[in-house]
Amino acid sequence: ESDRSLNFIEHIIEEDLENGFPKADLRFRFPPEPNGYLHIGHASSICLNFGLGLRYGAPVNLRFDDTNPVKEEKEFVGAIRKDIEWLGYNWDTERYASDYFQQLYDWAIDLIKAGKAYVDSQSARDMAAQKGTPTEPGSHSPYRDRTTEENLLLFEGMKRGDYPEGSHVLRAKINMASTNMLMRDPIMYRILHKAHHRTGTDWCIYPMYDWTHGESDYLEQVSHSLCTLEFAMHRELYDWFLDQVYQKGKVRPKQREFARRNLSHTVVSKRKLMQLVERGIVSGWDDPRMPTISGLRRGGYTPESIRNFADTIGIAKRDNVVDVSLLEFGIREHLNRIAPRVMAVLNPLKLVITNYLEGEVEWLEAENNPEDESAGYRKVPFSRELFIEKEDFKEQANRKFFRLKLGGEVRLKNGYIIKAQSCTKNDKDQIIEVQCTYDPKSKSGSGTEESMRKVKGTLHWVSATHAISSEVRLYDRLFTDPTPDAHRDKDFMDFVNPDSLEVITGFMEPSLADAKMGDRFQFQRLGYFNVDLDSRPGKLVFNRTVGLRDTWAK
Ligand code: ATP
Ligand code: MG
Ligand code: MG
Repeated sequence: ESDRSLNFIEHIIEEDLENGFPKADLRFRFPPEPNGYLHIGHASSICLNFGLGLRYGAPVNLRFDDTNPVKEEKEFVGAIRKDIEWLGYNWDTERYASDYFQQLYDWAIDLIKAGKAYVDSQSARDMAAQKGTPTEPGSHSPYRDRTTEENLLLFEGMKRGDYPEGSHVLRAKINMASTNMLMRDPIMYRILHKAHHRTGTDWCIYPMYDWTHGESDYLEQVSHSLCTLEFAMHRELYDWFLDQVYQKGKVRPKQREFARRNLSHTVVSKRKLMQLVERGIVSGWDDPRMPTISGLRRGGYTPESIRNFADTIGIAKRDNVVDVSLLEFGIREHLNRIAPRVMAVLNPLKLVITNYLEGEVEWLEAENNPEDESAGYRKVPFSRELFIEKEDFKEQANRKFFRLKLGGEVRLKNGYIIKAQSCTKNDKDQIIEVQCTYDPKSKSGSGTEESMRKVKGTLHWVSATHAISSEVRLYDRLFTDPTPDAHRDKDFMDFVNPDSLEVITGFMEPSLADAKMGDRFQFQRLGYFNVDLDSRPGKLVFNRTVGLRDTWAK
């Protein structure tokens, strides 16, 4: 796919292949927990895993890590599927950790019989007190030496629903003196009298992440199980659990860790994003200000730009923050190539061309995309009354102001050279109308000497009588701080930008009347916009995806 150098995970795989691991046995998985919508951090993991699948011609499973019924919902499963597909990836098999509840239970029984697991009936508090510290060993639970019979009886009772939540847990019997705290008799099962979105009320004991993840990898015969760095210490436990069930001849999954991706000026944690949704700071998970894949999609990002972003930043061995401007750079670059140009005025000022016939309309030819010859041309109406941007006119200005001023000339894009003659103000001294004259021989593309005449500024405009009005949503960063959740003394919510959304009415050239949901455009000199899903026939809503780096009016 790309000619960049290998990342460190690819080096690990290459080394395994050189050491005789069969290429045909390579298999990967992407394992989201369906407790929220995927975000840009997940995109890195998706691109990594599915990218490996493409590079090595290996299958990639989509595995829902659904071991916590309290926080997981069907809605999230559907949203996750949709986001991965939209990014352009296909999984081999769709699996659920909950598919393995019975197998995991059976294996747990085996562990009890082998003397490697026991039921602990202490409070969570007492168990925590016995854990010790990283420098001091923990102490044994008084229940650690229960007989196999007693353990089996209790564990079966837990499964049947005989006991309330918190009364018993199943723990692996490993080593309370291990220097790795996670190896100090970790909990494998807890009682939860909660219905699960897939298994309903079949189960009231649920396996913990560590007990589930590696065994699921093993059952699916995943060769390389890639997770983020916070699981590095879990690797020893992952391997211990695998040792208990591994059979010769099978692929033995390997956990390897890579760094979490953070994005500046936002938070990438489902839990925190959920708070933004629940507190109504944003309109939903797919609000274009959210760093979710669905938010980026709704706001006009392309899957290519997100894949390129992930590929460009690559994967790292240390957690890091990537500046959001890199993501913006990528989408701007892609939209520059593919988005048709149109004219829209967002802050209108009326301009009257006094020497242009009243009622006359002329359809001027406009190029759809100078970056793409095949994009063709369209017609835009020109008439006596136009709108230009307020910012593009000043009564007086110095020589560096290349827009319109009294006595000065500019070209109207795709149209004529005009000269501002006078302006009208209201009783608050605000300019409400500019009167101009136009040079009839200066029409763009007409081939006349006047049409070639260079004037310093070019303005976009729309015909006032033909323009359609639309709602336009202008987004700014959701947080005012580059790392809102990295402050010890402050909550990330303290940095929410109160001005991250401005809703205005804009005036668009009439060709936009046919725009469909999702269509992307460059509003010339303003930025890239797309049609939001809130649009209704005759009432379009546009999102600003990203502003322009520079303008052709410079
Ligand atoms: P969150 O805290 O947002 O819920 P998570 O890691 O708990 O994140 P999962 O649904 O478990 O979310 O993640 C699925 C996969 O995506 C995991 O392999 C996880 O390590 C990876 N992942 C999650 N967040 C990031 C991130 N910011 N950068 C890279 N990979 C990530
Ligand atoms: Mg997780
Ligand atoms: Mg999580």
